[in-house]
Amino acid sequence: MTVGRFAPSPSGRIHLGNILCCLLAWLSARRKGGRVVLRIEDLDTARCPMRHADQMIRDLRWLGLDWDEGPEAGGKNGPYFQSRRTALYQTALEKLEGLVYPCFCTRAELHAASAPHREDGQTIYAGTCRDLTPAQRAERAERRAPALRLKVPDREIHFTDGHMGAYAENLARDCGDFVLRRSDGMFAYQLAVVVDDAAMGVTEVVRGADLLSSTPRQLYLYQLLELTPPEFYHFPLLLSPDGRRLSKRDADAGLDSLRVTAEELLGRLAQLAGFHPSGAPSTAEGLLAEFSWEKVPREDIRLPENLFA
Ligand code: GLU
Repeated sequence: MTVGRFAPSPSGRIHLGNILCCLLAWLSARRKGGRVVLRIEDLDTARCPMRHADQMIRDLRWLGLDWDEGPEAGGKNGPYFQSRRTALYQTALEKLEGLVYPCFCTRAELHAASAPHREDGQTIYAGTCRDLTPAQRAERAERRAPALRLKVPDREIHFTDGHMGAYAENLARDCGDFVLRRSDGMFAYQLAVVVDDAAMGVTEVVRGADLLSSTPRQLYLYQLLELTPPEFYHFPLLLSPDGRRLSKRDADAGLDSLRVTAEELLGRLAQLAGFHPSGAPSTAEGLLAEFSWEKVPREDIRLPENLFA
């Protein structure tokens, strides 16, 4: 059975990029008769307050993008919240003992709790704290709580993306040892997403192409934790009319400022994503017959100036 998922980070109001992501995840899973899980990625509770999560859930309902499970919320349609699942991440971290080391570099963990998107840039960790002696670690630990990093191997990790095709990265060269837990104890996105996708039986992950380069890291974690990885489908990013990646900071792309119906929105997004040429208003259900991954472009999609003109 196919299991897809929505995994939004509620750091603001849902925007067009998130909606396209949820729409594609929904269509890809439902077309195969699959289920959909909703997981709220609110590890960084300061950036992701509950009111945003509630709003996101209301927005998804309004869009008619439904999901199937989430026993923690008490009801069969309730979502999972990463902020309530830290015990699972801790257990996974313990399994990686020996491969993890404390890192005292101050800027080490800046973005670790949220998925690394294009505007965050990519820094390659130089391995500064990898070979500290026990005495150096003890001395540094008196001044500062460490983040925890995973040692990565100097070999290529290959996979075939369901939409983008073959992709490979050498973690040592292209990424470096990466953070699994920040110095304040917050677990990193890379660890949480693997633990959760595996625990929730997710068989396909649909997300924006800027997370393509996180996938080799995640595949390495699947391997170490002896978990079965899902299939991955990375789709092109939506760019603003002037060519920037849309973010929650783009008020123009948020639902607040769009005076349209859910059907108008889905129809237009499906048109931009290549599988609904007419752009006519449609429910998600109504797009099922037309959707196929082959029709979706591989290059970034630039939004027109007036999306609903
Ligand atoms: N929560 C992440 C985001 O909103 C998505 C991560 C993923 O799909 O793996 O960017």
